[in-house]
Amino acid sequence: MNAYSIWVLEYAYVPNYHLSGLIYGAHNQGHRKLPYCYVLLKGQGQLALVDVGYNHKAHGEVLANTYGVENWRPPRTVLGECGVAPEDISTVFITHAHFDHMGNIEDFPNARFYIQERELSKWVWAMSLDRRFRWLMLGIDPADIMRAVDLARQCRLVCVDGGREDVLPGIDLYAAYDTHTWGSMYVHVRNDLARNSENSWVFAGDLAYTYENLRGWDARDPQYVPVGLATGSQFNLLMTADAMVKKAGGDCHRVIPPHEERLRELYPSRITKEDSASPNWHWRAGSRAGLRKVRL
Ligand SMILES: [Zn+2]
Repeated sequence: MNAYSIWVLEYAYVPNYHLSGLIYGAHNQGHRKLPYCYVLLKGQGQLALVDVGYNHKAHGEVLANTYGVENWRPPRTVLGECGVAPEDISTVFITHAHFDHMGNIEDFPNARFYIQERELSKWVWAMSLDRRFRWLMLGIDPADIMRAVDLARQCRLVCVDGGREDVLPGIDLYAAYDTHTWGSMYVHVRNDLARNSENSWVFAGDLAYTYENLRGWDARDPQYVPVGLATGSQFNLLMTADAMVKKAGGDCHRVIPPHEERLRELYPSRITKEDSASPNWHWRAGSRAGLRKVRL
């Protein structure tokens, strides 16, 4: 029995993203589709999200256009495929503050948000740096940082300092400081609710973009390879990859990178009616064996 049904929902994508942006050192090795996704967790009387995507307007639209994002769909459409409205979401876990993960706080008016305190405070600090440091901000919409701070004013923000277990039944949060960002966080779902779970899923945020970050280029001789973008250290990324894979019971395919296009090959998926021209995939994690086909 699964405590949660788990859905990885694509809400936009970049058709051809350079591989060196995803995998450290993969220069001149081509391009790959980069889906933009968030994760819906349904169960235990909860409707929770891991990240919220971005809103295709104002500076979010500007950033999306610089990355070549296409086929953006609003949460009401995407979540509607699962019978959920944005107002129904009660809890949001923000893995990090980049615009494609934290760029749509405003569409979830009834949710309590969890983020690492270091993630929020260091971006406020980064915004104060001299203009010459603006490379740091290339995935940040300052308005998103302001909206996150405003959540605190509304008593809807929980600033986590490190790890925290059972924020919801069977759901633990872990910090990964100075990795992809200052205070990235990953989410561990123990879907059997057991402390020593045999049914674990780990939602990686951008601590892994793709399975090569978790297993290298040769699955028979695996290695960890850092993502192609980090404000922190590559060594910290390697140690975090190791921690995530161990939390997933040693199976790197139970670590879910939301930008990994091949999830749809590993786990049955479907195209929604929203996709007239291009794929818009949904996945559901339904059993110990893996993700089951969604039939809506
Ligand atoms: Zn990111």
